[in-house]
Amino acid sequence: MHVVVIGAGVIGTTSAYYLSRLGCRVTVVDRATDVANEASYGNAGQLSYSFTDALAKPEFVTKIPGLVAGRDNAYQVRLRPDLVPWGVRFLSQCTKTRAARNTVAVLETALRSEKLMEELRDELPFEFSHRTAGKLVLLGSEADVTAARKTAALKEEHGCKTEILSPEAAVALEPTLSDMQGDFVAAVYSEHDSVADSHAFCKGLKAILDNTGRVDFRLGATVRRLIKNGSRIVAIELDDGQLSADAFVVCAGAWSGELLRPLGVDPHIYPVRGYSVTLPPGPSAPDVSVTVLKRKIVFSRINGRVRIAGFADFLGFSEEDDEDRIATLIEVAREYAPLAADYDAVDQEAWGGFRPMTPDGRPLVEQSDFDGLYLNTGHGMLGWTLACASGHDIARLVAEPAH
Ligand SMILES: Cc1cc2nc3c(=O)[nH]c(=O)nc-3n(C[C@H](O)[C@H](O)[C@H](O)COP(=O)(O)OP(=O)(O)OC[C@H]3O[C@@H](n4cnc5c(N)ncnc54)[C@H](O)[C@@H]3O)c2cc1C
Repeated sequence: MHVVVIGAGVIGTTSAYYLSRLGCRVTVVDRATDVANEASYGNAGQLSYSFTDALAKPEFVTKIPGLVAGRDNAYQVRLRPDLVPWGVRFLSQCTKTRAARNTVAVLETALRSEKLMEELRDELPFEFSHRTAGKLVLLGSEADVTAARKTAALKEEHGCKTEILSPEAAVALEPTLSDMQGDFVAAVYSEHDSVADSHAFCKGLKAILDNTGRVDFRLGATVRRLIKNGSRIVAIELDDGQLSADAFVVCAGAWSGELLRPLGVDPHIYPVRGYSVTLPPGPSAPDVSVTVLKRKIVFSRINGRVRIAGFADFLGFSEEDDEDRIATLIEVAREYAPLAADYDAVDQEAWGGFRPMTPDGRPLVEQSDFDGLYLNTGHGMLGWTLACASGHDIARLVAEPAH
């Protein structure tokens, strides 16, 4: 069976890996000249198997007027026409019941992903700076602590143990927290959460797949459209002709809708921009991954450097504010954790990427209404975390449809 995978981010690359393991011949097509060129390049690197909390929740609704008015510098929102239908769907997910259901659904996928990542690491010897660093989420208010306790209990029912630590216990675990400036009233600790470089992962996996002879990467090739014959997708159109196959898997991240909507398939994915800056460590850089919930920033230690990532901008595909937003990210991080990184280093790497967000925060890993057309997209804030399970699941759907 010949399968075309569209998109060579972390989702497309893992899909190709699992498809090839099931005996498929795979062609991965991406318009970029290298793998992991978009959202999978400079993300925070956290394999957040325990922190799958839905963004759409009742507490978020109360924040919206402030976000739209620009009072929270972790978010920028422009009420463009394309945001409205997505926003309405997002709001409909902001009930207690739906938030819990979405958190648990993603948690179950994340926990399977953790196991699959372990198996993949045992099987394939390549280096992508994987480290079981643990993760601390710092909570800024008693209301956050009450909500976190409820979520921790819910997760425990589904096999995921997290702990709520006092500030003293958190500092005992990660002493550099005492050099951070913001108060926190408690922290959620997840011991098993890991950190790794998703760009290095995609590059390493590609090199291995190149050697199997079963996977061909066609980079620098833009898919212009999907071609149908009746109810079946039969080919894709590239600038130099058509490529036909038995099945097609759309892993085009935030751009998936552009390919699917002409067929009448709307995945309801909004591009939510976030940013990162990677710096040499400062004199007091955390080893454990640290998320500051109030500021929507995270500190990850990847390959000896400190990556600070965060923010969520709803501006469509605009990149025009990148410079300002990265400056704000650095400013917020410097103020919060002045000794965590060398903020004035010349060798800093700044980056922005579009998270492919669905309204309910759940990825779409499914067959479409067309024969031969599959979706593995919409992984939002957790694509790196969920990649192994999603790649594994879509491969089985495509190659072993009886499952
Ligand atoms: C600031 C930030 C921090 C994040 N931190 C984390 C984290 O700590 N942990 C975590 O799990 N996740 C994190 N994420 C989310 C994660 O990065 C994404 O969910 C994930 O990378 C999505 O992968 P993808 O392969 O679906 O998309 P992408 O990596 O964007 O790949 C899509 C690919 O499709 C290609 N493509 C699109 N259209 C076409 C076309 N027409 N023809 C050919 N190719 C096409 C693109 O070139 C691209 O290479 C973060 C994201 C951001 C922005």
